[in-house]
Amino acid sequence: MSTRKSVVAIVWMTVSGACYGAQEQCLTAASCPAPALVIGLYDYANLSAKEIGRLTETASLVLANSGIHVDWVHCRGALAVAPATACEAEPQANRLVLRLLPTGPSKSSEDAMGYANVTAEGGNYASVFVPAVRAQAVGFEVKSDLLMGYVVAHEVGHCLLGPRHSETGLMRGVWNRKDAGEISRLALHLTKQQAQKAVARLGQAELAATR
Ligand SMILES: [Zn+2]
Repeated sequence: MSTRKSVVAIVWMTVSGACYGAQEQCLTAASCPAPALVIGLYDYANLSAKEIGRLTETASLVLANSGIHVDWVHCRGALAVAPATACEAEPQANRLVLRLLPTGPSKSSEDAMGYANVTAEGGNYASVFVPAVRAQAVGFEVKSDLLMGYVVAHEVGHCLLGPRHSETGLMRGVWNRKDAGEISRLALHLTKQQAQKAVARLGQAELAATR
């Protein structure tokens, strides 16, 4: 999430909003269970259990609005439970790694609150810069764990959709006060088209895992 400018434009491969994998027999979107996204969370910023609980709950709600169910695996931090063998699994399209970092972004993108390492088709690694989120939360006059949940959802969006930003919604490259108002009401989401692409990507990953 950059608070100043957008990045690269991409061309998306044609995808379908239909269901895949374990739901291959499921023919209509309305009857399809939400595809699952596993996120391994590594907290290097020493957030409290309460903060982690709130930010993951927020990100889950935002993504659930787009038809995506998130299973959180707490690999490091206040909610980490050992042994977490799930943390050893290789990241893939429906299994992401999320890091909460205690430092800001590099100088080249000093206004960013988060970063996702993605190609045009998406990626598996996302980071959130906790101090930058806390500072922006003060400016927006919203709770930092709420804003952090939205930054997580935005970076997860990049992992599922690629680096492109949109003019409206969760994937806007710059969030302003109007967006902050929608964040405070849990009303900022992926567009319908973005949600369909993200669900299709997860469905394809589930299908690949069953082969
Ligand atoms: Zn972004």
